[in-house]
Amino acid sequence: MSYIITDDCISCGACEADCPVAAISEGDGKYVIDETLCTDCGACADGCPVDAAIPD
Ligand code: SF4
Ligand code: SF4
Repeated sequence: MSYIITDDCISCGACEADCPVAAISEGDGKYVIDETLCTDCGACADGCPVDAAIPD
């Protein structure tokens, strides 16, 4: 299991700072999650202002 970031992302960067395993980075037009690193903790979803981080 992993979280994913939808096209609703506004590239605020909050989730990158919140992720305990540094699985999130800035991508092309939105932030992206490395599914091989994500531990499914949900911190990114809790801090996202537009609910763009969701369970896959
Ligand atoms: Fe990082 Fe947790 Fe979000 Fe996975 S669910 S990307 S580990 S903050
Ligand atoms: Fe995008 Fe939400 Fe992450 Fe901000 S917190 S970069 S809006 S996914």
